[in-house]
Amino acid sequence: QDGNYKVNDLQLKDNKRAQFVKESLKNLILSNEQIEKVGEAFKQEMSSALDEKTSSLQMENTYIPELPNGSEEGTYLALDLGGTNFRIILLELANGEFLKEDFKFYHISDEARLGCGIELFNYLAECVKDFMTLKNMPFDMKIPMGFTFSFPMKQHSLHSAELVTWTKSFNCPSVVGCDVVQLLQTSLRKHGMRNIEVLCILNDTTGTLVEGARLDAKTRIGMILGTGSNAAFLERADRVHHWEGERHGEKNVIIDIEWGAFGDKGTIDFIRTEHDKEVDNGSLLKRSFTFEKYISGKYLGEVVRVVLKSLCDKNLLFTKASKDLFPAPWKFGTDNVSHIEEDALNGCSNTSTVKVLDKFNYRFNIDYDEDDIKVIQYTTALVSYRAALLVSICTSVLLNRMTETDITVAVDGSVYKHHPRLKKWMVQLIKELSPEKNFHLMLAEDGSGKGAGLVSAIAQRINTRNVC
Ligand code: BGC
Ligand code: MG
Repeated sequence: QDGNYKVNDLQLKDNKRAQFVKESLKNLILSNEQIEKVGEAFKQEMSSALDEKTSSLQMENTYIPELPNGSEEGTYLALDLGGTNFRIILLELANGEFLKEDFKFYHISDEARLGCGIELFNYLAECVKDFMTLKNMPFDMKIPMGFTFSFPMKQHSLHSAELVTWTKSFNCPSVVGCDVVQLLQTSLRKHGMRNIEVLCILNDTTGTLVEGARLDAKTRIGMILGTGSNAAFLERADRVHHWEGERHGEKNVIIDIEWGAFGDKGTIDFIRTEHDKEVDNGSLLKRSFTFEKYISGKYLGEVVRVVLKSLCDKNLLFTKASKDLFPAPWKFGTDNVSHIEEDALNGCSNTSTVKVLDKFNYRFNIDYDEDDIKVIQYTTALVSYRAALLVSICTSVLLNRMTETDITVAVDGSVYKHHPRLKKWMVQLIKELSPEKNFHLMLAEDGSGKGAGLVSAIAQRINTRNVC
């Protein structure tokens, strides 16, 4: 076995301290039995959800029954809402290829993120107006739109969906239960854009799967490891019982799992540590999106911070430094996790870790020493490895569910892109967990934006066909 993909053992000058640290952190390491139980629980909850029984997973029908086939064409506007940034995109497709992708980022203020939803949707419309002005498009222009809305929703059709709950850093309670396509369509009209028709609403994982399939026809899974985390996959239509409206002989359909909520019914509480509970208690949406809090960019930095804090409290870290230097809750972002992990790649160097500590005004040899660095690196590695492992377990369950042996998994998101070891760990772990599968993790950059264009084109194709 190639040992170098696992977390290196902690070795300190002070051997006793190393033993204490390892003892304190041992709950972050999953046993084989726990790994198996997590996989079983995930499998179980997926089936229950498809059978419309109680489950923490939504397994939402996206009503997208097909992937790109090279005939996609047209000009589309797309909105991408859900991650760190909000974007408006203008896309032009011909023969299944993108001829053009213009976009602009817009900042969403905390007031809009956390206020009453009307404000948020009005702001989205104002941004569309700004974008159209910039692109010299008349406001009454007739143009189809795709809406990437990366939150859990209850879909009624390709172009109708109610918000189930906010996640990440959004919380406008009055929107929960509302049809977000209607909200968007109404505010567009109110702002003078009467001829924009929202053809489809989709999740970023769905967009990533569809864009992935355009790049590689073996793609059957789309995954986001970013601010939030989730996956969508191509499921056999006969296994999907929830289907509003008529069926049209579909063979497959994309299912949005919403795996961020995995464990919300307690099924994987056996891996939950005191640290995870603390992160959850300090989060915007408590007792919700349990799984996401182990793996995604919104939370990984905070998990590391909370664990390091517990080591400080036990006098196992920063014994000489002032308590005031220690980052406050949510002030240790996941970018720091990625930076610290870079040292592991560079032959156990300290450079990146020291840079991170500099940002918090810790001084080397005064506030901390080499052993402190090792403890921080070890903690960061354990938390990162646990995230890679949990994602790999679920990915492997998905792969094993499929009859195909050659499968491409399209992935996007900041954690996937910037964490230096996560991908390698995932490849190794998934290999171990799905030895019979020939899988390939493929970066599908900007699947959430491009996917909105592709799904709009597919929606047009389906609509025309169903009318005929
Ligand atoms: C949302 C998902 C989304 C994921 C990645 C989660 O918080 O619930 O819908 O796909 O984040 O953006
Ligand atoms: Mg995105």
